[in-house]
Amino acid sequence: MNKNTFIEINVLKTKYKIENLFEYLKNNSDKKIAVIFRNTESAEFIYKRIIDDDFVFSKNKITFCDYICFKLYKLKFDIVIDYNIPESMDIILEHIKKIKSKGKYFILYSNRDIVKIRHYNYENYEKSVYRNNMEKLGEVLWFIYNGECLLHQIKKYINIEGSTKCLKCSSCKVQ
Ligand SMILES: [Zn+2]
Repeated sequence: MNKNTFIEINVLKTKYKIENLFEYLKNNSDKKIAVIFRNTESAEFIYKRIIDDDFVFSKNKITFCDYICFKLYKLKFDIVIDYNIPESMDIILEHIKKIKSKGKYFILYSNRDIVKIRHYNYENYEKSVYRNNMEKLGEVLWFIYNGECLLHQIKKYINIEGSTKCLKCSSCKVQ
């Protein structure tokens, strides 16, 4: 990534993640897409939907995988979709780095995700690793909610000077 790299970054707040996801996949069947999920619960939701919908997808176009398996991909994607909110800025960055120039990145965001992560970490709050996790999640929430251009924030995070507004991300579009 450099100062001129453009990736369209979108945070989609929705109660209907699975519906939104499949509608999007159907409408973009010509693109090389990765859908990343964080846990087996989400994997099962997605799997069930593929079966229920009789959804036919070409394996070399759409990749469904978890964080670990996504790390193994060397090729870049047109579109990367995080089905669950990533728990740290570093994860977001890792995922964005695997998107082709002028590609798109989506985070599907539901309050349920946040509640689950928080609950899990609060239960173990006496251990520093979980407190640390909460801080990392806090950074992600700040990234999403502070209203600044998302691409600009990503570049700033890795010390790249760039335009302060991309005009295409979901934060820029709101303003
Ligand atoms: Zn922007």
